[in-house]
Amino acid sequence: MSKINVLYGSGTGYMLTPGMKSLLDSSLGKMDPSEAWDGKVEIPDLKEDSDLGMILSSVLKKNNFTLNPEARLVHSVGQSSLELCSLRDGIFPDVVDAVVFPEYSEVQPLLKLAHEKKIRMTVYGGGTSVTGGHVFKRSGKVISLDTKNLKEFRRGSGYVVLGAGFKGQEAENLLNTHGLTIGNFPESMQFSTIGGWIATMASGQESNQYGDIENILLSARISRSDGDILQPIVPRESSGLDAKALALGSEGRRGLITEAVLNTYRSPANRSFSSYFFRTFSEGIDAIRKIRNIPSVLRLSDEAETMFSLDTADESTMKKVLRGYISVRGAQRGSLLVVMNNDASALLNIPGAIYTGPQIGRKWFRERYMRPYLGNEIWKMGIVPDTLETSASWDNIETLHSRVSEAFNEKISETGLKGILLSHISHVYNSGASIYFTFMLRRCSPDGLKDIRNTLVRTFIQCGGSVSHHHGVGSYLSEYIENPVRKIEKEMQDPLFSRE
Ligand SMILES: Cc1cc2nc3c(=O)[nH]c(=O)nc-3n(C[C@H](O)[C@H](O)[C@H](O)COP(=O)(O)OP(=O)(O)OC[C@H]3O[C@@H](n4cnc5c(N)ncnc54)[C@H](O)[C@@H]3O)c2cc1C
Repeated sequence: MSKINVLYGSGTGYMLTPGMKSLLDSSLGKMDPSEAWDGKVEIPDLKEDSDLGMILSSVLKKNNFTLNPEARLVHSVGQSSLELCSLRDGIFPDVVDAVVFPEYSEVQPLLKLAHEKKIRMTVYGGGTSVTGGHVFKRSGKVISLDTKNLKEFRRGSGYVVLGAGFKGQEAENLLNTHGLTIGNFPESMQFSTIGGWIATMASGQESNQYGDIENILLSARISRSDGDILQPIVPRESSGLDAKALALGSEGRRGLITEAVLNTYRSPANRSFSSYFFRTFSEGIDAIRKIRNIPSVLRLSDEAETMFSLDTADESTMKKVLRGYISVRGAQRGSLLVVMNNDASALLNIPGAIYTGPQIGRKWFRERYMRPYLGNEIWKMGIVPDTLETSASWDNIETLHSRVSEAFNEKISETGLKGILLSHISHVYNSGASIYFTFMLRRCSPDGLKDIRNTLVRTFIQCGGSVSHHHGVGSYLSEYIENPVRKIEKEMQDPLFSRE
């Protein structure tokens, strides 16, 4: 039986620093050799449905569909830690019967055929969903529609029409050759797609400047079993429920987003970087909420994340000097603020902050898409890394942060698991910000992980936070959405794309 690698972006040669290894060992306990995982899982025994193959060949070119078990498994999972933890423990989800890669001319005939034959569809962009976005309950035949052949590219003045199947980095490279950018830079940039960004309401690292995807998106084209929904290319429209509104946050349930019209901006000529330390996270929050011209990137780590970053960085003279300097200035367990600005001339004056130069910001920029590779190495050490994020008003954010830490620590001591929790604020708004929690657990089962995740999400809600700021709801968080909203959302769904 053959095996496949299920870890995100594996094979890059990324290595953990010795500092990181020893810190993980000391805080989570040393790895028992039996816990090591190479990131591979055996492909389960999946029968190939040749009748389905015949049906699909009536509307799709031979190379535009497959019944191959490996492709079917890959298209039935995302990158959530719950899914990876289950796969690692040999627990498999429902797997689709086929994977299709239609070209534009094949989309409507395919949807019509699926409607007639009562075949349901899931939509797959880059597969980076961290909320169970590809999970479905089996009843009848289900196929996964991969958008990789939907690659329309048309430039307009101040906007671009992009096929839903473009990976973020691919689209950005194309635009950069014209001196332009879309301005959306999620950490999953190299893998996630334009369609996926819209369907999950994603947010990029420079959202303070360009806005979140809903601010960048002008209009969309959606294909449904009852036809196509289009919108004219205009800078704004006031017509209630339009294609843009239908596409945003649709998570593959309201139809297939085939194209998007996105604003374009001049690529920045120069970037400036800086970093600051505060004595406490609380002091840092107070300072950033008062900044008027918010820089393109503001990332404020709490004390635990700041210490984790310093302790795990490569030993260097600069690290020693920095430690000495911040401790002399009175920030023993400080809070680190990383700033990047696309307007290099804009100066940031932060009263009370300890300025520590441009290097930390430059390093953050160089490594801005590397964290997933770090995650891979942590999985291989037998540790389960996971993240949850929310947004809160400035009035609530500090309380939410401390309650989440308390709830996490209580759960850890109640269950006897070993774990650490780190967090940072990014995506800053006038009224509040997004707060992102990263946690790592040793010897954790899928049920143990579910329990911790539920505890944290319940705490977000109790403290007035959102269920999610940018990862979306998927299958795992939908139970936390209020009932009337779930009901309306269900009515907007296309039954062809139903997951139940
Ligand atoms: C390491 C890592 C870092 C991440 N960083 C960020 C980040 O910085 N910011 C952020 O916002 N998110 C981030 N995410 C989450 C994820 O990348 C986003 O949710 C992304 O928008 C998903 O895009 P995708 O193309 O991979 O979608 P997929 O995972 O393929 O799909 C996600 C959902 O959208 C639906 N969908 C996909 N394409 C379409 C389409 N064309 N039409 C209709 N429905 C569709 C799917 O059915 C599914 O429900 C990160 C994830 C990982 C693993």
